[in-house]
Amino acid sequence: MDSYLQILEKDFLNRNDIITLLSLNKEQAKNLFKKSEEIKLKYVGNKVYYRGLIEMSNICRKDCYYCGIRRSNKKVSRYELEDKQILDACEYCYKNDFGSIVLQGGERNDKIFVDRISNLLKEIKKLSNNELGVTLSLGEQTLETFKKWKEAGVHRYLLRIEESNRDLYKKLHPDNQIHSFDERLESLYYLKETGYQVGSGFMIGLPFQTVENLADDLIFLQNFDIDMVGMGPYIEHKDTPLYKYKAQLWSLEERLFMSFKMYAVLRIMMKDINIAATTALQTIDPMGRERVIRFAANVLMPNVTPAVVRKNYQLYENKPCTDEGADDCLDCLKSRLKLVNAEIGLNEWGDSKHYYNRNKTEDN
Ligand code: SAM
Ligand code: SF4
Repeated sequence: MDSYLQILEKDFLNRNDIITLLSLNKEQAKNLFKKSEEIKLKYVGNKVYYRGLIEMSNICRKDCYYCGIRRSNKKVSRYELEDKQILDACEYCYKNDFGSIVLQGGERNDKIFVDRISNLLKEIKKLSNNELGVTLSLGEQTLETFKKWKEAGVHRYLLRIEESNRDLYKKLHPDNQIHSFDERLESLYYLKETGYQVGSGFMIGLPFQTVENLADDLIFLQNFDIDMVGMGPYIEHKDTPLYKYKAQLWSLEERLFMSFKMYAVLRIMMKDINIAATTALQTIDPMGRERVIRFAANVLMPNVTPAVVRKNYQLYENKPCTDEGADDCLDCLKSRLKLVNAEIGLNEWGDSKHYYNRNKTEDN
């Protein structure tokens, strides 16, 4: 068997290699992070691109067992931002040279919602002179809806597979049609077919999840030839069904460390993709996002949701910055990014290089 140092010199990592790297201890992992940093700098550089995150609504038709805003959680006060609030947040991003926004929320697929998003997309493009890049993260949709939204101006979509092992996926969701693994996968294929830059990812440290599952999750992203990734530690929420497994979870510290290794291995496996440093990392470690930006991630999603509704978008406990306005977050981010020598790609879309590379290859 190859030593982990030999594995780090390989061009292609097989499943055993990935499992070995994910099992490294803290001392050994320093070499993994070093390798990943070299690859990151060589293939995507030291720039980090901002996407202003707007959590537009916590109304959701689904009941995922891990999520604090699941439909059955009656303790949540439901909200939906007005068009004006969303457009004001976009304007804020535009004026602060963010380059892009992400519109995220609970999953809905009714006609009123679909048409509203189409309209908002057109308005966002109008207010920014077509300059703001837009990513949507609004769950599974039909092929027709994805096409409609693409025509209205969006070019990237984030839809996490959450967990690529079908049996484990079933344990994390109710057993019914609207929580079907196959339909989630189908949506990812629709996105590719429609020409989106496609993002996916998963949670790390879920109940029942093993290191082998995590290796398979990474292989899933590689086989799908994904353009962008958003992944982060699973964090329990007391008003969700999965909370009863709290005692079986890896500690928060272990979930964070495993997440760091996952970021590094992913960067080694998929050199030119966009990888987002996600908020859940920050929940465990105030510098969690910046730490992964140093060696793997190149996208950051500062939260620009109006402060009045933030406390109602608690996917998990202790989600950070729920009391702060957008300005506070932006200021602290800027100084923290300096600490990890990252340059902010102001006014740039910062699209996935992988998307263009794979389309070049497909055209030839
Ligand atoms: N509703 C859309 C969807 O599920 O694709 C988008 C919004 S959803 C809140 C965004 C992501 O939050 C999910 O893909 C999931 O991975 C993450 N999430 C939900 N509950 C979480 C938890 N307890 N810990 C960490 N991440 C969580
Ligand atoms: Fe709804 Fe997304 Fe939460 Fe699932 S993860 S309950 S789809 S908001």
